Amino acid sequence: MIDIEKIRAQFKILDTTVYGKPLIYFDNAATTQKPECVINALADYYRTLNSNIHRGAHYLSSEATDRYEQTREKVRAFINASKKEEIVFTRGTTESINLVASSFGREFLHQGDEVIISGMEHHSNIVPWQLACEQKGASLKVIPFSGQGVLDLDSYKSLFSDKTRIVAVNHVSNTLGTVNPIAEIIAIAHSHGVPVLIDGAQSISHLAVDVQALDCDFYCFSGHKMYAPMGIGVLYGKEEWLDKLPPYQGGGEMIKDVTFERTTYNELPFKFEAGTPSVGDTLALKTAIEFMQSIGIENIAAYEQQLLDYATQRLNDIGGIRIFGNAPHKTSVISFLIGNAHPYDTGTLLDKLGIAVRTGHHCTQPIMDRYGIPGTVRASFAVYNTTEEIDAFINAIIRIKPMLD
Ligand code: PLP
Repeated sequence: MIDIEKIRAQFKILDTTVYGKPLIYFDNAATTQKPECVINALADYYRTLNSNIHRGAHYLSSEATDRYEQTREKVRAFINASKKEEIVFTRGTTESINLVASSFGREFLHQGDEVIISGMEHHSNIVPWQLACEQKGASLKVIPFSGQGVLDLDSYKSLFSDKTRIVAVNHVSNTLGTVNPIAEIIAIAHSHGVPVLIDGAQSISHLAVDVQALDCDFYCFSGHKMYAPMGIGVLYGKEEWLDKLPPYQGGGEMIKDVTFERTTYNELPFKFEAGTPSVGDTLALKTAIEFMQSIGIENIAAYEQQLLDYATQRLNDIGGIRIFGNAPHKTSVISFLIGNAHPYDTGTLLDKLGIAVRTGHHCTQPIMDRYGIPGTVRASFAVYNTTEEIDAFINAIIRIKPMLD
């Protein structure tokens, strides 16, 4: 199914040595590495096509514009949106969520209104809503989750009131790896007439996403977590909602007519794309999607599941390791602590052995508070990781554990 040698050959950075040890990169939930085809697509844009889009009468500009719009079509098909106009390019998940929270908040939040989020959100899906609520005198309601890392859907149902205006939850938790039952979450919200935003930052490179089947109102993700460059992200929004939201930023490209008295706004999606976008990064996003499709998203998911199961089993076999997030449905993320050792100490020792993991609260402080811990060590796998790397990681944990006990 997976030709791992062929895949790894696309990632030259995996040949790096760190402190004389081969690099083992297990920080994929923070950002994935980029395959050669993506790096080439970015470099080729600057070498052969660099120009500003949409406004130029000349060849380079019109070619770059075509390619930019082809990427929009690629993204549309990738997530099965019904229209290209529903795909807005942003800088990343954070900007996509801020766009919705800000525009939705201005138009639809009022004093006393309520926004439902979950207890396992990234700060990016908490703070923008707090800002929007503060401005309007609205408040946040939070869905709790179990010790296993599973959202409590009965509590969720009980949070709705006639003041609920929007629900915002992640598809996959970046800390716990939990795949949330978003189809059910969306259906429940819709039964109350409430729209739903899904933070897809941690799902888009691991699971097939069909926004029409899910029936979500907004879906947000970042290119850099799906083998594309940093600086490009996506906001999917149903046309009916994007039409109703006021613009987020003002500037060039998002306008139809400007006078000092009054401005009329451009049609979708340009109404939300003020200023010069990151054209090269956008073109390279198309290549990243093609890279994933060449392997097959189902094959990626199945392979990463094997890595997750293997690593979880081997970590549990060591003894004295606490894993945070044991939901039945997870992506390839393992948050753990060795005994009572501080996560930073574990991360530093692993680094010296060439193993890159993330330590800390992972921008999810409320999850840490829920478990009463300062942070975790997080190993997260991508399609280019191998069971041999997991063996090396386990051997490293066995080696450093006595130093930390
Ligand atoms: N949401 C989740 C679940 C994430 O894991 C992240 C990044 O780690 C974000 C949002 C923010 O993504 P970005 O920093 O690419 O905007």
